[in-house]
Amino acid sequence: MFDFHIHSKLSFDSTCEPCKIVSAAERQGLKEISFTDHYDFNDVFVEQRDIFAVQEYRDTYDSLDSDTVKIRRGVEFGLTQWNQKELDELLDSYDFDFVLGSVHYTGGYDPYFEEFWIYNGLDAAFEKYLLQTLECVKKHYNFDVLGHLNYVCKSLHSPTRKPLRYNDYSDICDEIMKTIAQKGIGMEINTSGVDRVGDFLPSIDFIRRFKELGGEIITVGSDAHDDTRVGQYISGALEIAKEVFGYVCTFENRKVIHHKL
Ligand SMILES: [Zn+2]
Ligand SMILES: [Zn+2]
Repeated sequence: MFDFHIHSKLSFDSTCEPCKIVSAAERQGLKEISFTDHYDFNDVFVEQRDIFAVQEYRDTYDSLDSDTVKIRRGVEFGLTQWNQKELDELLDSYDFDFVLGSVHYTGGYDPYFEEFWIYNGLDAAFEKYLLQTLECVKKHYNFDVLGHLNYVCKSLHSPTRKPLRYNDYSDICDEIMKTIAQKGIGMEINTSGVDRVGDFLPSIDFIRRFKELGGEIITVGSDAHDDTRVGQYISGALEIAKEVFGYVCTFENRKVIHHKL
C-alpha cells in the first residue's frame, strides 16, 4: 500500500504533526508515503501565497524516519499560468522526491471555498476550472504528476455535490490528459472524493482514457490533512490502477518507480 498525497502542519490547512502521520502509516502497514505540503499561489491576487518556509520543511522532515515505511519528501505545488519560475526556484532550494502539480485557484478563488461559487454557476465553474487546468499544464513542465484532475467538484459548496464526469467534458479532459501524457507527466487517483462526491478524483473512465492517450504514470493518494485519513480508500484506488495499468508508481529523487500490482 502506498499513499502519495499527505499534508502535515507544514501546510496552511493542517495542524497535524508529521510523526502522527508516520505512526498512522505504520499501523496500516503502508510501504511508502509522500508528504505533499501545499506551496500554493493565487492566480489573480498574486500577493496571496499559501507556502511553507523551505528551512522549516528541511528541519521538520530531514530527521523523520521509520523502520517500516519509506518516507518521501514531496510538495503539492499550486500551478498557475505564471508561476513556472517560482516552481523552478523552489526545486532549486530543496531536493524533493516528488512534485505533485495541482490547480486550486481559478479566477482568484479556490473552488474549495464559498466565494468561488458565488461568482460561478455549476457548469461555468466546472468548465472554468478545466480551462485553467489546461492552460497550466500547457505552460508547466517541471512536475511529476497532475493532482486531482476534477478537484473543482469536491467542494462542500458545490450546488449538486456530484462528480465532474468525463463524458460531460470529454474534449477538454482529453486535451489536458494528452498534454501531460506527451510531457511524461502522470495522473493521480485521489481518494478524497469518495466521501464527498461518491467517487475517486478522477474516476476510472478518466484513468482508462489517460492510458489510451499515452499516459504511463499513475499514483494514488488520500489527500489526508490529519492522521485519521492516511491510507483511506487507497485499496480501491489501487484496484483501478491494477485494472488499467497493472502497476502503480511512486517517486524517489524525482525518478519514477513502478510497482507491479
Ligand atoms: Zn490539492
Ligand atoms: Zn492536497
